Amino acid sequence: MRQSWVNQTVQAMPPSGIRRFFDLVAEMTGVVSLGVGEPDFVTPWHIREACVYSLEKGYTMYTSNWGLMELRQAISHDLQEDYGIEYSPKDQILITVGVSEALDLVMRAVLEPGDEVIIAEPCYVSYQPCAQMAGGVPVVVPTRAEDRFKIKAAEIERRITPKSKILLLCYPNNPTGATLDKETAEEIARLANKHDLLVISDEIYGHLTYEGSHISMAALPGMYKRTITLNGFSKAYAMTGWRLGYAAGPSEIITAMTKIHQYTMLCAPITAQKAAVEALKNGKKERQRMIDQYDQRRRLIVEGLNQIGLTCFEPKGAFYAFPSITSTGMSSEVFCEQLLKEEKVAVVPGTAFGPSGEGFIRCSYASSIENIKEALKRMERFLRNSKV
Ligand code: PLP
Repeated sequence: MRQSWVNQTVQAMPPSGIRRFFDLVAEMTGVVSLGVGEPDFVTPWHIREACVYSLEKGYTMYTSNWGLMELRQAISHDLQEDYGIEYSPKDQILITVGVSEALDLVMRAVLEPGDEVIIAEPCYVSYQPCAQMAGGVPVVVPTRAEDRFKIKAAEIERRITPKSKILLLCYPNNPTGATLDKETAEEIARLANKHDLLVISDEIYGHLTYEGSHISMAALPGMYKRTITLNGFSKAYAMTGWRLGYAAGPSEIITAMTKIHQYTMLCAPITAQKAAVEALKNGKKERQRMIDQYDQRRRLIVEGLNQIGLTCFEPKGAFYAFPSITSTGMSSEVFCEQLLKEEKVAVVPGTAFGPSGEGFIRCSYASSIENIKEALKRMERFLRNSKV
């Protein structure tokens, strides 16, 4: 008998730090959770109704591997309208099972064994594993609170080698809530052009920008031909469970991704695609209503955290606050475990998003005002008691 059937890369991969934490939460009652990174809203009714109607009409079959043409057309229309970028719905947009699948596909379509993927950290939990499973080597660029967690072009440049192939960006950012300003984005674009890098831009929180407007990397000079934009319906339309996203970019890469997708996934679910068409055509008002509520909660939580002594820079996007807990002297893990045990408040240790998240916790404000107020009250008590 073999020692293990499991592939060595997978064996070496640690399970997600978020999952471990939520296993603890699942065993408890009365927990106020600022943990999960998903909207607390139910998908707006008119979107759900479009899905129900599509089932009544008998839409229960496969779609094209690329996804429904009407959905690709609606996405193409929005990308043109929002950022002035033109993508052909024919071969530049692929509908995927969430941004999660799109991320995996692009890595597998592009990377040769040993190619380096530059990743700003702290970062979304699946970036490094996806790069590794595709044979790539993650190269981490730490970002810092004093820079408002924006990645610096000079820091990227220091890590560029002949093996560098992909620069993976996520703005607005999970877990920090950071956004990119025009100047920084343009510097990064110049660097990508200079060093011939492919930029994967995860813009899943692109619509959740509260001050200033979202900058789409593909719209910057020279970037259209070297950017794969990933986006989806999970966050902006409160559709996490529908599992729908897309990738847009140069035809050569999107076609290669479609090749993998056709053998592994075949297509995204038709019911979700029908609902997404409705979301794009008639869902902007509801989307804005949710964004306005996140914005209200954002102000409340940032002010509250700073008031109780957890220094928090003002996040301008996504739905996360990322305060420092260094004043407590505890590590992120210990802080979160103690807070959960003593006050039943769930937040996520910054280290779940990489070692540079040490000293921080992620608090999701995709939660009701009442929950946020209650969590702040309990956190204040926890801080008071832990000083004694
Ligand atoms: N990218 C980021 C930055 C995320 O935060 C998430 C989910 O939390 C995803 C991708 C996954 O999105 P999807 O639901 O579209 O697979």
